[in-house]
Amino acid sequence: MVTKSSLPYWTTVTAMILLKFIATVHSEIKTYEGYELYRLQLTTKAQVEALWKLQSDGEVDLWKEGGTKSKTDVFVAPDKKEKFVAFLTQNSLSGNAVENVDLKPWRDELSTRRNNKTPRGMSWNDYYNLDEIYKWLDTLPKKFPDLAKVESMGKSYEGREIKFITITLGSSSKPGILINSLFHSREWITGAVVTYFINELTTKHTEYEKLLRNYRFYIVPVVNPDGYVFSWTDDRMWRKNRNPNEGDECKGVDLERNFDIDWGGAGAGVSKCSDSYLGPSPCSEKECQALVKFMLDHKDITDYYSFHSYGQIWMTPWSYTRKKAFNDEETFAVMKKAVKTLNSIHGTDYKFGSSTDVYSPIAGTVEDWAMETAKVNYSYCIELRDKGTHGFALPPEYILPSAEEMWPAIVSSVQKLTSSSREEDSFNSKNSRTNGREVRLLCLGSASTLILMSTVLAKF
Ligand SMILES: [Zn+2]
Repeated sequence: MVTKSSLPYWTTVTAMILLKFIATVHSEIKTYEGYELYRLQLTTKAQVEALWKLQSDGEVDLWKEGGTKSKTDVFVAPDKKEKFVAFLTQNSLSGNAVENVDLKPWRDELSTRRNNKTPRGMSWNDYYNLDEIYKWLDTLPKKFPDLAKVESMGKSYEGREIKFITITLGSSSKPGILINSLFHSREWITGAVVTYFINELTTKHTEYEKLLRNYRFYIVPVVNPDGYVFSWTDDRMWRKNRNPNEGDECKGVDLERNFDIDWGGAGAGVSKCSDSYLGPSPCSEKECQALVKFMLDHKDITDYYSFHSYGQIWMTPWSYTRKKAFNDEETFAVMKKAVKTLNSIHGTDYKFGSSTDVYSPIAGTVEDWAMETAKVNYSYCIELRDKGTHGFALPPEYILPSAEEMWPAIVSSVQKLTSSSREEDSFNSKNSRTNGREVRLLCLGSASTLILMSTVLAKF
């Protein structure tokens, strides 16, 4: 029995238990004490390959790949520093080519546990956890029954739903636009920007009536729900899914290396401890299988936009080979127009090009798989803000500007080179394409495709 006189005792005990609980919970957060961030300017292919080998072996974590054309950010654990320094020496990297970035501004972000128990209503002034995003998503079909439908495309390794929203006006056959984010869980800005798109299309549907009559949007805000939850509760820098890798000390598969296209080729991590670990077999992961099934089941999909961060880059296939994609000129023209639109909003500078223009070849990416196997003609990977000042810890005040500039760019890209007949062309060619050659033949009728045709004919 608790008497009046024993209250201070119980208060002390309760406080102690509470403090212990808080300490236990807090100690679960990976604080990355002693880790360092290096910004390298690589200049040779050999240097790039040597660094990717380190990543593949799980010795370093590449936060931003830059190839030889821009800087590469490398996160180094204290126990791996020796190997990293040896890599620098062996590859003649010193002086201005190596910058040790001050991680002080990132420290709070890395050690803050942000798991709100009571879901907040959505805004675009802060980041939101999985529960909050899904609760908000589920309200939309109730508010906009003629416009929006929420379903699940499958379950993650840990059994969480991978939800998607379909937004369109009318039930006619039309091009499908697939957009996804949070492939890599630490890239929080991607989920914030993509949920902004959903909010625009639903709450401002009268403004976007033509767009919604002409296209069907499929939007998947969290492709990797397990990883995303883990990035809130345990490790802010978690990238992969949460597959335990059959009891190995290192968990997780990099979903962006797991797709069945040149699987196991360049750029894929071999070590299970690598942040780019490719997985035990092609499309071994449930998250990959869900997306694959969805894309194969939805033959209407003409466009795919997969969001990542950071770097401010808009890319088109191929990733796995330096060869040009069959519709290279068209996808470049569309991308160039979209980046120009983006730049006109807040003056933000995005680079664009094929993945191999920007990085070294990377095998097993979803964008390549979508174009090659699901026959999605416009398949883009977009690295959002910034260029490395804040990186993955982009402060919430950058969400709105990032979204405000990206949304008109996506609308521009969806509309291709503006004429509605071209939109039709894209849809028709997608639906009849069985290989690259046939779509080339369907693309007759515009200056850029005539150039394409002459290229094709020159080959025969
Ligand atoms: Zn990513």
